[in-house]
Amino acid sequence: MESPSSLAVRVMTLFPEMFPGSLGTSLAGKALKDGKWSLETVDIRSFARDKHRSVDDTPFGGGAGMVMRPDVVNDAIDATWPRTGPLIYLTPRGKVLDQAMVRRFAAEPALTVLCGRYEGVDQRVLDAWPVEEVSIGDFVLSGGEVAATVLLDAVIRLLPGVMGNAESGNDESFERGLLEYPLYTRPAEWQGRTVPEVLLSGHHAKVAQWRLAQAEEITRQRRPDLWSGYAAVKKNDLKKG
Ligand code: SAM
Repeated sequence: MESPSSLAVRVMTLFPEMFPGSLGTSLAGKALKDGKWSLETVDIRSFARDKHRSVDDTPFGGGAGMVMRPDVVNDAIDATWPRTGPLIYLTPRGKVLDQAMVRRFAAEPALTVLCGRYEGVDQRVLDAWPVEEVSIGDFVLSGGEVAATVLLDAVIRLLPGVMGNAESGNDESFERGLLEYPLYTRPAEWQGRTVPEVLLSGHHAKVAQWRLAQAEEITRQRRPDLWSGYAAVKKNDLKKG
């Protein structure tokens, strides 16, 4: 059963059997069972207009591959509209997904996710609807379904009551513009390797200080792009006092 604050997800795809897929297990799967989010798949092929049920055609201007037809994709969107929440098209050309976007999507009442196949979707249908283009990174997948799964997994874990410990999201990578500090658990000594003393001290302020310093150093070394944003905000905060 859907709870009043649950997220209604609609996935438009040529491969509805790929859903819920991994979203049906573990944290997301339990949240689905608990009604924290709901899933509806729309089979784009069911909107095909000919007896061969074709959904794609060759690109005008020539070139490799096939393009998803605007009339078919349009009918699939049209049949399920109007609707609240963003209409997301997953594409390598989109804005690269980050934790701030994930947080924004998690605050929506509904998400509609359009998965491309072949070379992608005819531009005119993307221009005809209020589409938000999102990429999951600078590489090319064979279809939008895996990208949709990645996006939804990141969103669902942020829904209220999905993560066991409400705090476990706040310290994670990207939440403060930093990567996460190193993690340790029992045993305190493993294969001759020990745990940093401060973590065994029980001194919460010192632990927090050590973690922040580690997170800053790891971010500075590994992600100069994140580091410059964080360093600028920190400098500004120091100036403000
Ligand atoms: N011709 C496209 C290009 O060069 O940008 C790539 C098409 S790809 C083979 C087929 C579909 O996979 C895309 O329409 C998109 O839905 C999905 N896809 C591939 N890579 C993606 C990525 N990095 N992020 C989001 N979706 C992606």
